[in-house]
Amino acid sequence: MKKGKKLYEGKAKIIYETQDKDLVIQHFKDDATAFNNLKKSSVEGKGVLNNRISEHILTNLSQCGIKTHLIKRLNMREQLIKKAEIFPIEFIVRNIATGSLTKRLGIPEGTVLENPLLEYCYKKDELNDPVISKEHIYNFGWATENEINVIDKMTLRINDLLVGLFRGVGIKLIDFKIEYGKVWNKETEQKEIVLADEISPDTCRLWDSKTEKKLDKDRFRKDLGNIIQGYQEVARRLGIMPEETNISEVNFGKTTSIKFKKK
Ligand code: C5P
Repeated sequence: MKKGKKLYEGKAKIIYETQDKDLVIQHFKDDATAFNNLKKSSVEGKGVLNNRISEHILTNLSQCGIKTHLIKRLNMREQLIKKAEIFPIEFIVRNIATGSLTKRLGIPEGTVLENPLLEYCYKKDELNDPVISKEHIYNFGWATENEINVIDKMTLRINDLLVGLFRGVGIKLIDFKIEYGKVWNKETEQKEIVLADEISPDTCRLWDSKTEKKLDKDRFRKDLGNIIQGYQEVARRLGIMPEETNISEVNFGKTTSIKFKKK
């Protein structure tokens, strides 16, 4: 599949057009950002790992009946995906309280939630992706009630599947963010909702089940070091990376040029 012109560049990914108007290429960058771009760096190898991890997870979900945008992985950094009309909403699922939930509502860190907690955020960098209610979504036409009902069910099912997938390899799925889009289904001649974007240590909180060591982007957010080793550990446990990979021979311990933007 030939790569055409750049359609969109986000913080961690670039989307390119292809000769097929219904398909695009998703390219994973090494760039890491946190706190809505206030903290920036490049983490060598992150794009490659996220591409592989996300492909693995979406393929597993798809085998369990979840419709996704993924067609196939093209190379180490790129995937061919369906071009989707993305809902301007981030869907966050929490199993254990941490991060912005504890800050916003004063819930003690580490509280095991009785039921998975589903939150919606409006995808708008300028506003720091604020938490919104379903009423906002319906009122402003960001999705219909029917669409949200379908998405809520899919999201809780995805949480169940992911909790199991990670538990099997000694990892606790604390929380994660997913996105959805609409694509044209040629067979049914209708638009259908698909899981889009990525699922990776950039978008999930993943803790080692025994030690509660963080294996995700919090290593970057909180300056814990060994970011790439955390991601590699997730890939290794999921059976994506061979036990002995020469990637670990390179010193990935330090990130380069962390910049803080003045407000
Ligand atoms: O920061 P917060 O606690 O709200 O994050 C909840 C989950 O959503 C975390 O797993 C985080 O990695 C993910 N997230 C994300 N992209 C955002 C906001 C949150 O992947 N823009």
